[in-house]
Amino acid sequence: MRKVVVCFIVLLAATLFFPAGARAQTDWTKYEAQATELLRQYFRIDTSNPPGNERRAAEFFCALFAKEGIECQIFDIAPGRANAYARLKGDGSKRPMILLNHTDVVNADPKLWSVPPFSGELRNGALYGRGAQDMKSEGMLQAMVMIALKRERVKLSRDVIFLAVADEEVGTIGTEWMVQNKRELVAGAEFLINEGGENLIEEGGAAPFWGVDVAEKAPYWLRLTARGKAGHGSVPHADAAPHRLARALQRVVDYETPVRVTPLTQQIFCDIARVRFPSEKEKFCNLETSLRDAAFRKRVSENADWAFMLRNTISLTVLRGGPQTNVIPAEAVAELDARLLPGEEPQKFLEEIKRVVADDSIAIEPISKIRTPNESPTDNEMWRAFEAVVGKHFPKTVVSPRLTSGYTESQIYRQLGIASYGFCPFVSTREEADTPHGTDERILLKEYQAGLRVLYDVVTRVAGK
Ligand SMILES: [Zn+2]
Repeated sequence: MRKVVVCFIVLLAATLFFPAGARAQTDWTKYEAQATELLRQYFRIDTSNPPGNERRAAEFFCALFAKEGIECQIFDIAPGRANAYARLKGDGSKRPMILLNHTDVVNADPKLWSVPPFSGELRNGALYGRGAQDMKSEGMLQAMVMIALKRERVKLSRDVIFLAVADEEVGTIGTEWMVQNKRELVAGAEFLINEGGENLIEEGGAAPFWGVDVAEKAPYWLRLTARGKAGHGSVPHADAAPHRLARALQRVVDYETPVRVTPLTQQIFCDIARVRFPSEKEKFCNLETSLRDAAFRKRVSENADWAFMLRNTISLTVLRGGPQTNVIPAEAVAELDARLLPGEEPQKFLEEIKRVVADDSIAIEPISKIRTPNESPTDNEMWRAFEAVVGKHFPKTVVSPRLTSGYTESQIYRQLGIASYGFCPFVSTREEADTPHGTDERILLKEYQAGLRVLYDVVTRVAGK
């Protein structure tokens, strides 16, 4: 009994001096060590997709949360494939936030790696494993943030949801299953943190930018099919299917899609000037006017990292004709990988391409799922948290929004009214950042560990009371 009273007094004193959310004695070294050990275990769960086998990852997370007293559910979506969903309750005064990660990884050929890709080996200060960048490290940090919030008894104004989905790399069935079958578990959220973003360390050891993805271009793939009379290659005819297709494609590849400056691209270019070309700020911050200048326009167009942000793009990627050199085929096919800016309408773009092709005999059809490009704002609590936290940990780094050329599932969640961001909590070198989907995928241990505090600070700032 006496013991209980003493405990109570100690607890009371602790609560008075260190109110929840501001406890002075968080042992980060312990959390970081655990985050490291757990990541190594997570790497050893082979979730190469195909086939995925993500249920094992879902079980891994739910077992971890069960030990901590955090409620976690496994949702089976196909044999061997499952999502994990855990939730920490807030007081309901604000809408929930979601920490989203995918548990699958792309395949890895062990012959090409210097360490086995599913061993979680630590070498020269780096953790090696498929998923080290994309995105097991971030998924693990999200889980550790949940654990830390629970252990530190942080009082929350909003629910914090951990969602680990299967199959991001191939078919997005994990996310689509959630949206179709458990929409109520995600749809009410206000914010979502997902993979994406880029914080590259440059010479001198610092990252000039903390790039947070707020929008992405939407893939809109098109197939062009020309049909005509088949025949012998020795007797050519001008309107043979491959000839007509070649002429149409010439027009397509020569076509310059219109330049469109959105408030987002304007902000991005302004940030670029702020860091890279301070003397040219005027020019970069008045993009629409500056692009009328031929030299500046050329400079922007020739920079592959910049050009895609200003227009819908078209890459000719697939060409198919006859199987034999001496046969004129009855059909010739080409495929275009087009990517649309946020705010664009796929149907309108299709009409535009039809006008450029200018040949009614060529069939043009979309072959990708229609995904309307979208964008999240930078004037809300979430964005201010990114700026405040990055500013605290990396005072010289500029937080800047990014429009990515690729596609992530954030696009799907934005459609539910959730402001979704590709936010990477750690920095990396160019060399490491180039390893996702490649060989020797890895992350520097010290950067991974530092990322825990960054993500924890962001979440507590947005969801803490
Ligand atoms: Zn990924």
